[in-house]
Amino acid sequence: MSNSQTPTAFTPSDFSAVQMRETAKSSDRAPPTHFDAVIIGAGFAGMYMLHSLRDKLGMSARVLEAGNGVGGTWYWNRYPGARCDTPSYIYCYTFDRNLLQEWEWSERYPEQDEILRYLEHCADRFDLKPDIDFGKRVNSTVFDETTNRWTVRTEQGDAYTARYVIAATGCLTAGNMPKIKGIDTFKGRSYHTSRWPHSGVDFTAKRVAVIGTGATGVQAVPIIAQQAKQLTVFQRTPAYCVPARNGKVDPEVTKARHANYDQVIDNIRKSFFGFELSFMPKSVLEATQEEREREFDRMWDQGGFEFWLGNYNDMFFDKRANDIVSDYVRGKIRSTVNDPVVAEKLIPSYAYGTKRQPLDTNYYETFNKRNVLLVDAKTDGPIEEITEKGIRAGGKEYEFDIIVYATGFDAMTGALKALDIKGRGGRSLTQLWEDGPAAYLGVTIAGFPNLFMITGPQSPSAFSNVPVSIEQHVEWITECIAHMRRNHLTTIEPTEQAQEDWGKHVIDLVSMTLVPNTDSWYMGANIPGKAHKFLAYIGPEGVGGYRRHCDEVSAKGYEGFEFASQGQGGTARTMAAE
Ligand code: NAP
Repeated sequence: MSNSQTPTAFTPSDFSAVQMRETAKSSDRAPPTHFDAVIIGAGFAGMYMLHSLRDKLGMSARVLEAGNGVGGTWYWNRYPGARCDTPSYIYCYTFDRNLLQEWEWSERYPEQDEILRYLEHCADRFDLKPDIDFGKRVNSTVFDETTNRWTVRTEQGDAYTARYVIAATGCLTAGNMPKIKGIDTFKGRSYHTSRWPHSGVDFTAKRVAVIGTGATGVQAVPIIAQQAKQLTVFQRTPAYCVPARNGKVDPEVTKARHANYDQVIDNIRKSFFGFELSFMPKSVLEATQEEREREFDRMWDQGGFEFWLGNYNDMFFDKRANDIVSDYVRGKIRSTVNDPVVAEKLIPSYAYGTKRQPLDTNYYETFNKRNVLLVDAKTDGPIEEITEKGIRAGGKEYEFDIIVYATGFDAMTGALKALDIKGRGGRSLTQLWEDGPAAYLGVTIAGFPNLFMITGPQSPSAFSNVPVSIEQHVEWITECIAHMRRNHLTTIEPTEQAQEDWGKHVIDLVSMTLVPNTDSWYMGANIPGKAHKFLAYIGPEGVGGYRRHCDEVSAKGYEGFEFASQGQGGTARTMAAE
């Protein structure tokens, strides 16, 4: 394996080593370095957290980042076709009105490199890089009850201590390399989409396999098919794709949005999912056939998430309503794919919208190309093993030069568990979460004082436009820490009761929807052995209602939290009020 600082092809069992390879700048064990706060991750979340703590509260803060640059998701995921599925004008920071005015997005759904350029611009604009240590992968995070400080260690041998630790590790960070028999025996090149070589991959004249048809596979397949001699797509569960209808942003539209950003920001902050979208105030069952068709066509032609998040209001709750929406998409697949046998393989049977909606650009059309083959686990047989020459599925061996694993992530909890967090009494977060995550408001965990998670499990997180949820968490955490500093409080942690009540509330709400009936990464179902438990939060009023609830918690003196202050006579613990 190469020692280069950017990922290259790898043998799949070395996946964790590939994740580490970015962190090649090793150093000898350095003495602990103390900061008010250590922030883990330099993506959207970690960058804003640093800016807030350092520039608003005047704290000393250090960001530890495994990669050799800022950007998080957008630093690592460089696979062909990688772009954002959220409209660019709201997939950005909104906390600085000048920044909003000075940045112009080129496309409705910008490519990975444009988003990375934006984040690099932000890092420079707010002078963040001097306080980020790159090439540092955190592998131990331990709370010391005698000092009320955390010690954070990295694989590179560094140690940092801090009063506060903020995990800005992202929802979809820990790549899922499937444990398929023979996976290391393949003699060709293998890539996981979340650790794509910075130099790119040339598929020209190559026989290529893509395993996985989630949002990533759906973006990558059409682009790889343009270059490869032969592309074979291995599908375990088909996706319901809706057209992205990407395109250049009209300068007049940009001008109008720039003139109206305050309203846009207000809209997305109060919205259900962090978009300028809301469900139609009507049941699909009450609409006439003609009316439904008209509305469905309008949303389909509009492209993007409107079909998913702006549809009739019972689509997520009532199977009969959902069937009507699902059937519309199934009809679109049938009318796009020329071969009816292939079309049927591409048609999902689960309820539309209960897995993350992929947006497509020519995904279904790609299966009309002569150089593209679909191997469907259900009808052609599942993948049995990876061989020296390729993939055996349904008793047949397919030969390849390159295998692309678009197999997703250990979502929401994978990156947090990798930090090996130990709280009071040496309690391990990984063990605590064996049956699924528990986290009050999705931000804090009982028994883990002064540890905050940005877009943590049981918060709207990946079930929302993530930058909107990131900003809300960063601002709430900043205000919470400011409160502690004003009141000379040393630690904050939620009570077990508040955490339990929140967990029950999360499950009660999602149980009203169809989401738990489908195996998806939202439910932890994509990782063998992972607990089946909803990993995000869908509240009655979405991210807007969740924001209001968090603000009410703080307005009531941090209801559900316990604070401690350290005086000369030792530590005093209180249910806090300012
Ligand atoms: P994913 O949605 O989890 O999809 C992974 C795919 O790999 C699924 O089709 C899965 O099948 C398949 N798979 C996993 N293990 C397998 C195995 N052992 N054998 C065969 N097939 C296997 O992952 P993703 O596509 O990377 O997307 C994850 C999330 O990242 C998205 O849902 C989205 O939130 C985010 N994302 C965002 C964007 C964007 O905004 N532009 C783009 C890409 C991704 P099953 O469905 O049967 O498990």
